[in-house]
Amino acid sequence: MKRHWWFGLGAAAGAAAAGAAVAGARRRALDGERVRRLQGIAAAHGKNIVILGAGFGGINAVMPLLRALPPESGWRVSLVDRNNYFVFTPLLYHAATGLVDPTSILFPVRSLTRQENFIFREGTVRHIDFQRQVVHLDDGQLPYDYLVIGLGSVPNFFGKQEELRHAITLKRAGDAITIRNRIIDAYERADVAADPEERRRLLTFAVVGGGATGVELMGAIRGLAYGTLAQQYPRIDPGEVRLLLFEALPEILPGLPRGLAHHALNRLRELGVDLRLECPVERVDQDGLTACNGEFIPSRTVIWTAGIRPPDLARDLQVPKTKNGRIEVNAFLQVPGFPGVYALGDIAGALDAASGKPLPPNAAVAVRQGRAVAENILADLDGGRPAPFAYQERGELVSLGKNEAVAEIGGVCLTGFPAWVVWRTFYLAQLMGFRNKMQVALDWTVAYVHQRDTVRLDVPCEPSPEPELPEAKRKTLAA
Ligand SMILES: Cc1cc2nc3c(=O)[nH]c(=O)nc-3n(C[C@H](O)[C@H](O)[C@H](O)COP(=O)(O)OP(=O)(O)OC[C@H]3O[C@@H](n4cnc5c(N)ncnc54)[C@H](O)[C@@H]3O)c2cc1C
Repeated sequence: MKRHWWFGLGAAAGAAAAGAAVAGARRRALDGERVRRLQGIAAAHGKNIVILGAGFGGINAVMPLLRALPPESGWRVSLVDRNNYFVFTPLLYHAATGLVDPTSILFPVRSLTRQENFIFREGTVRHIDFQRQVVHLDDGQLPYDYLVIGLGSVPNFFGKQEELRHAITLKRAGDAITIRNRIIDAYERADVAADPEERRRLLTFAVVGGGATGVELMGAIRGLAYGTLAQQYPRIDPGEVRLLLFEALPEILPGLPRGLAHHALNRLRELGVDLRLECPVERVDQDGLTACNGEFIPSRTVIWTAGIRPPDLARDLQVPKTKNGRIEVNAFLQVPGFPGVYALGDIAGALDAASGKPLPPNAAVAVRQGRAVAENILADLDGGRPAPFAYQERGELVSLGKNEAVAEIGGVCLTGFPAWVVWRTFYLAQLMGFRNKMQVALDWTVAYVHQRDTVRLDVPCEPSPEPELPEAKRKTLAA
């Protein structure tokens, strides 16, 4: 599964619909008779709406539900995540390259609301018992009446987990810190390396995957090498730094109009990036990578952004799946045959209503699905009809580095500085919470006019593969 696009200009398109949804939710909350009716149902059955995953989808389902279900309704909305924070993934690579502090892009879930019937539960989901309507966590159980599955995705190694295990992924906050540490550490070691071969290996940075994440990350590493690191390590000439970008397809940025993708490709080449197209990486070990043609390239930093897949938990759930393992949903985002169960975001195999093609796994889709699922649950509670989910993509934005980006907005293509300004403005607006927006704005300003943050954070943050249960235990739980 490859990402096609890029952030939520689609979400912007949905702003009017979202506004209407919020107004609808408020109206419902103020309707005393309705609240009393819901109270009656809750008292009789003890109703719980459980949302799994505090990602783009899950977080956006919570607020419309809470607005329409005040505490006196007797309904609880529980949000479960293994972390007590939401990760703003579009800026993960900024955290990985010192453009922002990692905590600037993490939003504490408990700051969402203080509404009494909101419960945040930190825990790892291990299994869902659809018959008993219970979610099994690593340290307890949660009964549900409505369930929303939004557990996202994990990096896809396309069956080469073992061969590629030394590659660093970019999916979680810890991955960004690992990458940042690895780059800084490589510079520290290279600065004193006596062996020129070793110095070259340390100063070779490879990114696998020519989608937006890979391209943006490569641009940001290049900016770091020629900016702050060039100033801080005067004995390392930026020209010594080798930057490689590998892509298995014949082109990069498959979701962009071809003209813009070519512009990005040429620009990266001008910036000194060695682009290897139609060249899947076969193996990554501690000393370097083996490319498509068997060529071995010594490198200590190989970052894998080449694809995503549903988490293993999805594989174990006894629900219908698409051919690439995402949970099948109907037009209302319900899991067919499982009343009250919805799936959204990367884990869900929703189809585009207009084209019938799978919707891309991106934040814009997840955000709008979160709101749509909330509305459909509320419609169900109120005896109304659910609405089919419709999504219209409005554009794409990809940053190539300082003052450089490519953008397509409503059919208008932009490149260079104007596209970069649009990129930054858009992502700043999308960030969750006032504190995060302020922090990111400040971090960006300091990095722009002065230097990026190049402290090697002394925290144990090795790449974090999906925590897996031993096979035997998974089978027991799934039984
Ligand atoms: C580096 C990077 C950059 C990206 N940039 C963009 C971009 O610019 N624009 C864009 O539109 N999209 C972007 N995306 C894609 C976007 O992040 C995803 O499509 C989006 O996050 C999907 O939302 P979601 O709610 O399905 O899952 P997520 O946002 O991934 O949330 C899933 C949540 O589930 C939790 N979870 C998972 N498993 C468990 C478990 N077993 N127990 C408990 N909790 C669990 C996770 O901790 C996570 O909080 C990017 C992704 C990455 C990795």
